Amino acid sequence: MFSYRHAFHAGNHADVLKHTVLIAALQHLTQKDAALTVLDTHAGAGLYRLDGDYASTSGEAADGILRLLASPQPLTPALQAYVDVVRAFNQGAATRTYPGSPFITQHLLRSHDKLKLFELHPTDLRSLAGNVAQLEAGRQVAVLHEDGFEGVKKFLPPPARRALLLCDPSYEIKSDYGRVLDMVADSLKRFATGTYAVWYPIIPRPEAHDLPRRLKTMATKAGKPWLHATLTVKNSKLVEAADGEKRRPGLPASGMFLINPPFTLKAALKDALPQMAELLQQDKHAAHSLESGG
Ligand code: SAM
Repeated sequence: MFSYRHAFHAGNHADVLKHTVLIAALQHLTQKDAALTVLDTHAGAGLYRLDGDYASTSGEAADGILRLLASPQPLTPALQAYVDVVRAFNQGAATRTYPGSPFITQHLLRSHDKLKLFELHPTDLRSLAGNVAQLEAGRQVAVLHEDGFEGVKKFLPPPARRALLLCDPSYEIKSDYGRVLDMVADSLKRFATGTYAVWYPIIPRPEAHDLPRRLKTMATKAGKPWLHATLTVKNSKLVEAADGEKRRPGLPASGMFLINPPFTLKAALKDALPQMAELLQQDKHAAHSLESGG
């Protein structure tokens, strides 16, 4: 079974990028009346305690969401929308709870929209199911103990022919990269007009570099518009630790690749990404990029 627990990473710079994009996309997609189906292939636990054991051990939110919350400068609209959603899960001044993608999404959906959550890890599944039960959202939200790569097939195309699919694996196993590509290719065949959003880590591994390139080729061949946003917060080179050993300095960067992105997303990110890089930078290698096509 996998050892990745998102609780260690909740609210870090990768979540800031991923969840800002998710919120901006959902805000656009929920403007039309017709029901939207959201498929979250790798849901995680749904809600995280920032003052709990996992998050306090790694402290990653301190260099992520908490920096935005403490920002003295006004935030660009997409970042402000993200901060507002996180604040909605916290009463009072302290930010103790961080909403994962399932809760961010449910917060923004209308009562006739649907959310399908896939989670394989038994511990996270239990937490997710318990957290979702508290929402009393009835049949709007389904928690499925299934492989998300396979499970989405039965929901495409969705009844009202409107869908957003978020694919956010932990990439603990190398085969995840190939499975993402296969799943997106298959999903496009089943439902060509869906919005497909893939998060991936930017790490020194050939599969990680190939993934956005191959998604771009796939979108271009299918004649679909695409958008690619990246955020780097620090150098990825080996650093010398206190014990003299050379180690990688934790995740330095990540990206979001979307096929059929909402047309408003590029403008929203053009403003938000430079501010994200400025507020989340950990060294002089901080950077961002935004590309689109189709
Ligand atoms: N999307 C979540 C968020 O933004 O809050 C975080 C998800 S976390 C990066 C990835 C999750 O996928 C983990 O909880 C892991 O247990 C789960 N997982 C791994 N492989 C899976 C698979 N094939 N299908 C469904 N879930 C999987």
